[in-house]
Amino acid sequence: MSKSLSSYRYLLLRRLTQTVILVLFVLASSKVVNVLNGDFSFALFLDKLPLADPYAVLQMFFAGAKITIDVLIGAGIVFFFYALLAGRVFCSWVCPVNMVTDLAGFLRRKWKIGESGGSRNWPRSIRYWAFALGLILSLVFGMTAFEMISPIGIFHRGIIYGMELGWFVIVGLFLFDLLVLKNGFCGHICPLGGFYSATTRFSLLRVRHIKDACTLCMLCKDVCPEKQVLHLVGKKDGIVESGECTNCGRCVEVCDDDSLKFGIRSSKKFK
Ligand code: SF4
Ligand code: SF4
Repeated sequence: MSKSLSSYRYLLLRRLTQTVILVLFVLASSKVVNVLNGDFSFALFLDKLPLADPYAVLQMFFAGAKITIDVLIGAGIVFFFYALLAGRVFCSWVCPVNMVTDLAGFLRRKWKIGESGGSRNWPRSIRYWAFALGLILSLVFGMTAFEMISPIGIFHRGIIYGMELGWFVIVGLFLFDLLVLKNGFCGHICPLGGFYSATTRFSLLRVRHIKDACTLCMLCKDVCPEKQVLHLVGKKDGIVESGECTNCGRCVEVCDDDSLKFGIRSSKKFK
């Protein structure tokens, strides 16, 4: 593989995964092929295996909705897959909104927007407050608060039934990330991103940094959507501990020095 293609290998795989998931939803909803039927809150794989968004199920619980056993099992499967094994990969490999915010981030870097001073620095903890607010509002209003306005649901419905007014949300989100705040929505605001950040701290799949191989080019920090998680780069050996890392692989694929690698947390080879 040429170097240029190899420095996009995970990005291309992620786009493929995200696109295949959307296509499977469309095919199931138009009754062509029933592999993945539903949406990003609840879906059935091969008409048998339930998969549910644990944060959506938490909102249902707070809203007082009846939670069926298959929804509970689906939420458990998804929760433990990310929390124990894969980390916050929902955000970089599954969620369709990531394609929009990544594009805004890419153009922001390319056009050097926000680099001439005055760039905003919002706390990344807003997403944890948004997560809690989503639950409180669900309790108060008796409805799944974030699901009602989630750009993830809007994107999914737009792909299946037509985007119409959903364009305002998707384009607005794109412009917000492009012009107002770098990695604005996914890196600061999204409560589902906050939920996965808080619950994937101990997952097995991690990025590891090898300090002696690092030439301090800082390409990794340039492309990382959560660059605060790379504070160890150039300073010490170790794994990226934070659950805010999405395991997107951008840092790994752009590193010319092989100083960043994917691996399993406890493997000897990894050490
Ligand atoms: S932060 Fe939210 S919108 Fe962004 S990729 Fe994650 S779940 Fe999707
Ligand atoms: S540390 Fe690497 S894998 Fe994690 S979010 Fe940043 S670029 Fe992606």
